[in-house]
Formats: sequence, structure tokens, C-alpha cells
Amino acid sequence: MEKIIGIDLGTFNSCVAIVDAGSPQVIANRGGYKTTPSMVAITESGKRIVGHMAKRQAVTNAENTVYAAKRLIGRKYDSAQVRATRATVPYSIVEGPNGDVRLSLRETLYSIPEVSAMLLQELKLVAEEYLGHEVKKAVVTVPAYFNDNQRQATKDAGTIAGLEIIRIINEPTAAALSYGFGKNIDRTVAVYDLGGGTFDVSILEISSNGVFRVVSTAGDSFLGGEDFDQSIIDWLVEGFRDEHDIDLRRDRMALQRLKDAAEKAKTELSTLEETEINLPFIISMGGNEALHLQRSLTRAELEEMTYDLIDRTIAICEHTLDEAGFDKSEIDDLILVGGMTRMPAVQRAVTDWLGKPPCKGVHPDEVVALGAAIQGAALLGQLDQDEEMVLLDVTPHTLGIMVKGGYIEGLIPLNTAVPTSRAKRFTTVRDGQTTVRILVFQGDEPEAKDNELLGEFELTGLRSAPAGEVEVEVTFEINADGIVSVYAKDLDTGKAQSITVTASSGLSAEELKRMTRAAEDYAVAQKLDEEAKQAKQRAEETIASIERLYPEVESLLAGSDFAKEALERASEIIGEARSAIDRGDLAKMKETIDALDRARRMVLGLLGRSA
Ligand code: AMP
Repeated sequence: MEKIIGIDLGTFNSCVAIVDAGSPQVIANRGGYKTTPSMVAITESGKRIVGHMAKRQAVTNAENTVYAAKRLIGRKYDSAQVRATRATVPYSIVEGPNGDVRLSLRETLYSIPEVSAMLLQELKLVAEEYLGHEVKKAVVTVPAYFNDNQRQATKDAGTIAGLEIIRIINEPTAAALSYGFGKNIDRTVAVYDLGGGTFDVSILEISSNGVFRVVSTAGDSFLGGEDFDQSIIDWLVEGFRDEHDIDLRRDRMALQRLKDAAEKAKTELSTLEETEINLPFIISMGGNEALHLQRSLTRAELEEMTYDLIDRTIAICEHTLDEAGFDKSEIDDLILVGGMTRMPAVQRAVTDWLGKPPCKGVHPDEVVALGAAIQGAALLGQLDQDEEMVLLDVTPHTLGIMVKGGYIEGLIPLNTAVPTSRAKRFTTVRDGQTTVRILVFQGDEPEAKDNELLGEFELTGLRSAPAGEVEVEVTFEINADGIVSVYAKDLDTGKAQSITVTASSGLSAEELKRMTRAAEDYAVAQKLDEEAKQAKQRAEETIASIERLYPEVESLLAGSDFAKEALERASEIIGEARSAIDRGDLAKMKETIDALDRARRMVLGLLGRSA
């Protein structure tokens, strides 16, 4: 049976799960960890490292270590969020050819989908090592509040990674799925999901017949643990400036250390009342002089620094409950998802808001990947009949077009069940008009400029006729992944219109092809590299084991021409193997490994021993 994996591609951590013999389970990586840090680094030798290995070297290679790439995916370079990220991260963010974001790492530019693809490849590998065979299909989760550009870019990441993302599902929905799976319950649930970089809240109805229906969803795709860390960093930086008149933000290594320390302190304060932040030698003053940073932080101080962030999440909860048309008393269960929900102040705020405590037994780091795996198994028809389920989600943003005066005309309102489509007719407004330009936006602000531009479409080649005579029908569609497509039909000729996208923050088809090829080439090169490493190790071990036998052979068989000849032959083979190792010649190394094995057996034979 073909295996499909569920991937929670998080801002801070990522996680992969499968359904095994009807039971969903998270797969641990080589180190035994069930989550993998969403970090990617390029080393001095140009090698890519991912996850825990990337995290371990982050301080010494801060400029080439990427974290929180999810905060940048599908965003435009000139957006407020990208500007904010540029000011705080130690890696270099530059403008891409499509107005998108590229990262400059060791003089090579990478798109965000390429960086996310490196993470996806790593998670794919974790699953493959566990299963013992290749995996080609996945369900990947995204924040419910992600717009079309962010979803499309996530899908592109899958393509680059050689992984077919058969469905994108929303993180809170996945959590609810995992929560309700196999329970046969009728409940209305609120999922509060505060992760490393994003916040979502969804209200769902779970029915005992296996239908999971999202009623409303809302969120902020730029609000999460990173902002809590940033509050602590700002406090540390300000304090240091007051004391020493030095701005630590200018030093990238110091910034990375501050970030690690802030995150650690925040996490510790979920269980402790007070913690010490101790960063010796945080900045060099030239010569042997250095300054140290040492401060203590209490839980109450952290709560004071971050209460506005928590308040923002509660305001969004209020809003989505309103949209759902529910009263708080109608919510049966509260599910908390995301690492940040371990913070006591967060738990307190949500509990106070809803007037009920969260459900126990939901693992905030694993529940999303498990839900994705369940959805994957359902889509491939691999669930038992009594476990079958249907997922009905909604679109988190209004889809609309720009009309006169720069305003938005909404076509598909937010919280509409997906998949959905809506057709609209356009007529020419000028005599002889042969083209119609349509700007498609996503968002809920009245003015177009305050919403996300998804694409600029030009309908061309219309019949030249008096104004109002030519009609074009344009269909706007949102599929189950939450991805938007636009089709047009010329009603005058009945012909389908080709639509050209001329503005988007994503990758062009050619770029996507090139990046996919580059990722494949890299994977092949890495495989060869790994093989070469193993061959080298094997050859060196065999050489050492032969050489260890030399003194014995010489003392036992002194004067034997046969032994002398055999040792000369062995030395010759060793010489060839060493030269292949020096040249990094894999084919020759493999060839000499066999010869070395034979030589070893021959030498052992001289000593009357078997191999
Ligand atoms: P996620 O994206 O769900 O993996 O959530 C990661 C975020 O949760 C990061 O910002 C972590 O610092 C934060 N986090 C993890 N554990 C804790 C904890 N015990 N207390 C507070 N925050 C935490």
C-alpha cells in the first residue's frame, strides 16, 4: 500500500507523521526527536544542513543560517512583514525578480520555497528511513490564515522537494481532525493555535458521522513565538544600551545569541517564576576586552512585556466566534495547539475568554502532523470504513477584484466553504476595446491597496466592437487547498480565454523548473557524496586492518619469497586505494575496496587464518 506522509511545516519546528495500521503516529528523526527545528544553513564548503545540525551551528554561522523562513513565504519584498523581519534576523534578505523575497547565503540567492523544500526533503527522508522505502506523496499543513500566495509558494516548495503535495490543509483543522479521529463525537470545538510565527483560531463542528466542518476561521500570519522572543530581545538590547551605550543588534553573532537566550528564557518561564539570562563575552571591545550580559527576568515581567500580543490573539478569537454566529457557551471543547500555548499567561487568557479549560491529552507539537497524516490516508482511501471522514473547510479571506476608485468588489466572502467558484460577467466599456484587465485581490479591507494582490490578469484578443457589446465571463475558483484559479470565457465567440499572470509574488514556471532541477542535482550530488564517504571509510578501515597484520607476517614468514611477493602486492593495492581516496574517485574506490578485501584475505591466508 502506497504510504502518504503528513507534514506540519512549522515556523519553529516541523513534524512528520503517518497512519500505520489504522493508527496515526509521529515519526522520530535519527536523533530520536519527534520534531525537527525548521532551520537550514549553508556551511563554508557550500553544504546544506538542516534541522538540529543547523541549529547547533547557528551562533557561529549566523549569517548563513535561516530560521523562521515561513514568516517570509509568499510575501512581497516591500511588505511590512518582510521589512520587520529584515530588521531582526542575522541573515540577508534581498529582493527577488518577481518582487518576491530571496535570501543571500554564501553569495548564492535562494527563494523561500527552495529553503522550505530543504526542510520538506529532510522530513521526507526521516519518513523514508523509518519506512525503508521512498515516499512520494504528502499532505502539508499551513496556517488557516495563509493567503493564496503563501499556499502556492508552499506547494512550490513541495514540487522543488520532489514531493507531490496532494492536499494542503489548515493547521487548526488538522488539529481538530486528530482530536476527533475515531472518537465518534458530536462537538463544537474551538482550536486556538499559537505557534512560532503564526496565530490561527478556528471554530469547527465535529459530527459522529465523521464530518469535520469548519464554521469560521481567523488569524494573523505574522504573530507568534518569534514576537515574544523579540520582546525579550528588545528589552535586553535596550538595557545593554542604557548601561554601555552599545547597540548589540549591529553584531550578527550577538543577535543570534540573544535570540537563543530569549527563546530559552521564555520557555523556562513557563515552569519557573524567574530565570537568569547570562551571555558572557557578548561583544568584543577590541584586544582582550569584552562585555558580558547578565540579567534576571521574572515570569511577571515577561507577561507584562507580552500581554499586548496575547490580547491581540483574544481579539481575533472574539471576532471569529462572532463570524461563526456562536455564543461562547456553545463551544464544547477548547483545543490548544502550538508550542506557545505552554505559556501559562496564554492558557490563562484563552481559558478566561472562553470560560472553560483546554482539553487535556492533546500534544501541541504533534497534533497537526497527525491530522495531516489522517487526511492523507483518507484521501488515498486507506482508512477503515468506520473511521472514514470528510473535511469541509472555509476560505479565510474574501476574494475580490479591484473596481473603480481603487476599491474592492468582493466575489467570494471569507468563511465560504471550499471548494467554491463564482462567475462574473465583464463587458467592454469603450468602443473598440479588445482587452480587459482584472486585478484579483484577497483580503477584507475596503481599499484594494490594503489587500494582497494575487494576480493581474489581462484578457486579450476580444472582438473590436462598440462599448458594451462584448461580454467575457470570468470564473474565480478556490479549490480544497485554498488555492485560487481564474478562468475566462469570451461569451461573444464562446472561446476560452487565455489568462496571463503579470504580477505575483511567487516563482515563474521556468524558475520553478530550474529550482526543482537544482534540488534534484543537489540530491544526486549528496547521495554520491555520502557513497564516497562510506567507500572512503570502508577502504581506510580495510587498509588499516591489512597494515596491522604486516608485523606478524614479517616475523612469521621472514625470508619467504611468497610472503614477500604477497605483501608487495598488498602494498600496491593499498597505494592505488589511497590515491583513489585522495582524488575522491568513487568508481576507483569501489573497485579497490574489492581488491583490498582480496588482499586482506590473502594476508590472513598467509597467517593460516580465515577472514
Ligand atoms: P510551534 O511552531 O508550534 O513549534 O511553536 C514553537 C513556539 O513555541 C516557539 O516560539 C517556542 O519558543 C514556543 N515554545 C515551545 N515550548 C514552550 C514553552 N514551554 N513555553 C513557552 N513557549 C514555548
